[in-house]
Amino acid sequence: MKTEEISILGAGLIGSLMSIYLRRQGLDVSVYDKRPDKRKTPYTEGGRSINMALSHRGWKSLDKVGLKEKVLPLAIPMYGRKIHDEHGGTTFSPYGTKEQAIYSISRGRFNQLLAEEAESLGVKFFFDHKCLNTDFRTQEITFETPEGEKKMEAPVIIGADGAYSSLRMSMQKQIRFNYKQEYISHGYKELTIPATASGDFAMDPNALHIWPRGKFMLIALPNPDKSFTCTLFLPFEGTKVCFAKITEERDLVSVFKSYFEDAYQLMPNLTEEYFRNPTSSLINVECYPWVQGQSILIGDASHAMVPFYGQGMNCGFEDCFILNGLIEKYGKSSWDMVFEKFQKIRKDDTDAICQLAMENFVEMRDSVSDPRFILRKKIEAKLHQLYPNDWVPLYTMVTFSDMGYAEAYALGKLQEAIMDKVMANPLITENWDKLDYEDIINQMDSAKAV
Ligand SMILES: Cc1cc2nc3c(=O)[nH]c(=O)nc-3n(C[C@H](O)[C@H](O)[C@H](O)COP(=O)(O)OP(=O)(O)OC[C@H]3O[C@@H](n4cnc5c(N)ncnc54)[C@H](O)[C@@H]3O)c2cc1C
Repeated sequence: MKTEEISILGAGLIGSLMSIYLRRQGLDVSVYDKRPDKRKTPYTEGGRSINMALSHRGWKSLDKVGLKEKVLPLAIPMYGRKIHDEHGGTTFSPYGTKEQAIYSISRGRFNQLLAEEAESLGVKFFFDHKCLNTDFRTQEITFETPEGEKKMEAPVIIGADGAYSSLRMSMQKQIRFNYKQEYISHGYKELTIPATASGDFAMDPNALHIWPRGKFMLIALPNPDKSFTCTLFLPFEGTKVCFAKITEERDLVSVFKSYFEDAYQLMPNLTEEYFRNPTSSLINVECYPWVQGQSILIGDASHAMVPFYGQGMNCGFEDCFILNGLIEKYGKSSWDMVFEKFQKIRKDDTDAICQLAMENFVEMRDSVSDPRFILRKKIEAKLHQLYPNDWVPLYTMVTFSDMGYAEAYALGKLQEAIMDKVMANPLITENWDKLDYEDIINQMDSAKAV
């Protein structure tokens, strides 16, 4: 049977995984990317995150196409947050149970693995193909290539071309297309803690390190070469510590010595890296509909979120999993129906995770170092341990389950209201272990029933 060719825009993580899913369904797939071939030129992201946290939803989506075992050797488990205070002290706060971890993985190697896997299955890749425009009446894409402009008919188009999607830009010119973008006040810059002289990790590699400082923070994730990639999140301007006020080495050293002294001691290339690496912005994008004719947006193209829940890629991978399930269910030629069902099923969930990602920024940069916040998490962990089905902490629902993000968000809000009451008890610090945990579960049951 001759199948229709599928054109995917974007050979990033999501476009590459989607191409694998479709190819395994026996479809002809071509992937177009504006960049040169990453397998032939060193992978640089121009300041984009070098490593990321891969969690349950991502693993599940990789497992479905048999890639989990191939990806595992590239990933380093992180079992919790290692919080660094201003005096060099650290505390460890587990993400979940002893076995539950999120995994640090390098974007470049991971992307390369997915693209190579796709190619070995017969997916065709076209690099140096920048999509300029898509005409939905004729289903025709215009590309800019080194040989000049090229037009191509594409009966089915999947836009996985990221937060600044060209396919989305073409959709914006259609009527009744809703679009919302927000840059947050903070930006980020990547820095490095190299391996020690003896070739070891300079800190515990099985934790995500955080230096929370109220309005700003530094984080560090481990790499297989025993270095850590650090990300410094600061306001662009307008506060005592912000990117605009770090213009020369002494400003930088003063900030690091005042707020990140222990990290500073481990960063011999700080000044060079700081002034060389770009300062990047953080955007949240929401839009709808995601479908126009036989074209659809997935991944960051449809829902770019700020990185504070570590879910952007995981959510994009889950898009691939769900879209694939709908194709299996409704067949390979009912694209209109499959795409329509996908956007209806998925939109509430991606709105919820975009919102959660925004809210988690305050938690990461501020609350995680607050003893009352730590106590709250301890009480929730105990509730989960005693009543594993009745109380699941929000972070666990988002990170270690595949429950819809919207459902997790709603349950999380109910739990938050109950925990606010629990924490209002003036003797909570002394008596937390002796609480009537069953009564808390009963309150949750009543709240769910309303
Ligand atoms: C600082 C930071 C930290 C992050 N940490 C995490 C994390 O810990 N966990 C997590 O799950 N997520 C994380 N994310 C989010 C994650 O990076 C994204 O969600 C993910 O990369 C989205 O993948 P994508 O394939 O949709 O888009 P992209 O990775 O942006 O890929 C899009 C691809 O499309 C190509 N392209 C763009 N425009 C065109 C065009 N006009 N024509 C042709 N090709 C085009 C690009 O070259 C690129 O290859 C983080 C993001 C940031 C910024």
